[in-house]
Amino acid sequence: MPPWRYHRGFGQKALAITAIRLARAGQFNPDAGGWQRADTQVEDAMLTIEHPQRPDDDVHEILAAVPDPHAPILAHPVRRAVIWTGSHTAGDHRCWSHSWPHSRTAGTGGSMTTPSANRAIQRAYTQVRTSTGQILLTDLTKTRLGAVQNRFFRLFVPVKRSRLRLPTGLPEFSGMRHLATLSDSPVLAAARLGGHWSDHNLAAICHVAACNLRCPYCYVEFRHLSAQDSFQASAADLISAFVALRRERQQAGEQLSILRISGGEPLLVPEFIADVHDELRRHDLAEVCLLKVESNMTAFAYALESAPVGTAARLHSIGGLAVHVTIHPTPDDADWPRVLMGLRRALELGIDVYPAIGGAGWSDAHLSSLYTALAELAPDLPLRLAVRPFNLSYDALTNRRGLDRYAVPAGPSPSMRWEQLTSAKRGRRYLQCPRHLVSLGDPAKGAAS
Ligand code: SF4
Repeated sequence: MPPWRYHRGFGQKALAITAIRLARAGQFNPDAGGWQRADTQVEDAMLTIEHPQRPDDDVHEILAAVPDPHAPILAHPVRRAVIWTGSHTAGDHRCWSHSWPHSRTAGTGGSMTTPSANRAIQRAYTQVRTSTGQILLTDLTKTRLGAVQNRFFRLFVPVKRSRLRLPTGLPEFSGMRHLATLSDSPVLAAARLGGHWSDHNLAAICHVAACNLRCPYCYVEFRHLSAQDSFQASAADLISAFVALRRERQQAGEQLSILRISGGEPLLVPEFIADVHDELRRHDLAEVCLLKVESNMTAFAYALESAPVGTAARLHSIGGLAVHVTIHPTPDDADWPRVLMGLRRALELGIDVYPAIGGAGWSDAHLSSLYTALAELAPDLPLRLAVRPFNLSYDALTNRRGLDRYAVPAGPSPSMRWEQLTSAKRGRRYLQCPRHLVSLGDPAKGAAS
């Protein structure tokens, strides 16, 4: 039996056995006594088994029967297998995982068989990379987005009263916390860089040119999520453009101190994020600018494993990289375990995580599962959650299907429902204090391997 690692903290009681989506290439069938080969290509190294009658101990029987990943029964080597037990929706699940040593080629992504990836992740991971080691950014001059400055950047004012984007975690705005949309990057920038938040109310945004998801409410046109209208750039190119834009804004009397990497999905290219931070340091900007990364977190675990060796250690060495995570999948979605894996890995690397959800489409049971999952990752992480209804008025959303379910629902706002949970479980109001003051605890030791 391989040395499976049990992640305590994913739940307390697991009577049902739910091992999720092990692979389309190899389906685990306990009644047939083991693995069966399927015809499709490996997409994911997890499989789902519902076996509610079995006691928890029988998990070991299942794990013992998992074959050597290099055995010919699987068409491709598997790097890691993950089996979940229990029920996600009941919030009592546990996660068992095992990783096998594997070789990889720096910059190529190596074998495309990492368990936590599906085809959309693999495709986006490949799409955004070039053979020269540069990545693809969306040429913003070819988009309909506003305040575009050049092909690299558009400008954005995070706090804008007219749009009700406010730092509602601050005491002076707390009365608006269920009405306004939380926008707190300037608050974090002020805490890190000094000054008042209003000194940091300007961000330059660039867009990584691919994403593995296609959220109906995404304000980016879908063709810009599959590398169309893109150009190749290195981190050095990006920071040169940022320096020039910063100088330009300074001459106009504005301070540009937030660099926001958006997309698309920036954590498809974690090594690029580390490169950008290195470039900021090289230009003596790391202490005067906030690097903020946005992510859906579904691809991070895969991308981290597939990225050049040392990428995790480089991210860890940044020491508190700010990553704003919008959690799009609900707990009954196939991507949910990927989000949790990504968040776990991010926290292990000391990443300063700021989670958010749109709220619409999240039932009370979903919110409860979310609370449990976040609290198991870090006890106070639920107190960092922002509930931000999506803005459905963007041009890009014209003719998108399935938007109805993301409209703000009648009745208590989703943030009020979230506050019921934080009040009941921790005696804290929603956004009772600025999110950067909510501790994430100590990052796991030895995680930056
Ligand atoms: S994850 Fe973000 S970038 Fe990707 S489709 Fe969804 S909203 Fe758009």
